[in-house]
Amino acid sequence: MAAHLLRPRVGGLLALGPELGSGRRAYSAFQAFTEVLRLPSKQLTKLVFPLQELHGHFVPGSRPDLHLNVFHPSLEDIARAESFFTASARNRIEYLTSAVRLDHAPDLRRPEVCFIGRSNVGKSSLIKALFSLAPEVEVKVSKKPGHTKKINFYKVGKYFTLVDMPGYGYRAPEDFVDMVETYLKERKNLMRTFLLVDSVVGIQKADNIAIEMCEEFALPYVMVLTKIDKSSKGHLLKQVLQIQKFVDTKTQGCFPQLFPVSAMTYSGIHLLRCFIADITGNLKTNDFQFS
Ligand code: GDP
Repeated sequence: MAAHLLRPRVGGLLALGPELGSGRRAYSAFQAFTEVLRLPSKQLTKLVFPLQELHGHFVPGSRPDLHLNVFHPSLEDIARAESFFTASARNRIEYLTSAVRLDHAPDLRRPEVCFIGRSNVGKSSLIKALFSLAPEVEVKVSKKPGHTKKINFYKVGKYFTLVDMPGYGYRAPEDFVDMVETYLKERKNLMRTFLLVDSVVGIQKADNIAIEMCEEFALPYVMVLTKIDKSSKGHLLKQVLQIQKFVDTKTQGCFPQLFPVSAMTYSGIHLLRCFIADITGNLKTNDFQFS
């Protein structure tokens, strides 16, 4: 499709930001991968592989240490992964329950992935973006100061459970440590923890609580960099390189590849869906699989 025909759609996307956190579902023409596949290759790369697109902006000859290809699925695999996130009569995606402690958590056999991050990092927006092909799912948001924060469980068909942990920052570390520590330490079917970092500000003091916890419990975790649409390319490059260096030098259990995402433009969302489908054992491809 010619670039000039796309421009009005891209322009439309840019006007959507303020609604992201207000409980209304962000809408993007690029929620569905079939739409993404219509893009010219440069725009497609930018949307699907944002890290690779950033890499293209390095000064020729410089050797930035970005791990681009640790997880680099084919477009076919990304398209296949989308089916797990698409609600249908045979693939029910729904909010299951909430818990304030691990002993209140449902006893589920399916593999689980959990999302943790500071309050305001963009966690609910990201989960809404991941579930955008399941419009019936109501993503729980609890932000009122003083209200008990809960661990929310979402069932994704018969494939896996997505777990939304309370945001830390407000009355942290007490709340966060009490509620989350036992879950992270003892949840047997937890396959991967997604630790969200705001790409605008990088790793903050409060993030270290979660990082230290993941390291201490030897959990396999992944750093997801949120809100990448908010920064200039130069600022984003700087943040990404700093965080990558941190991951390489200061962590043991963190997956080497970063996952930059935007819940507004859907950049990185399709790749993240594919990664989740893969690590929960559902994609079943021989090309890549991580234990
Ligand atoms: P949470 O507290 O971690 O659940 O954060 P929210 O998802 O509520 O997001 C916090 C704020 O950041 C809200 O104002 C969102 O609209 C905004 N936000 C979240 N994700 C993005 C994003 O990808 N891009 C932009 N521009 N804003 C975002």
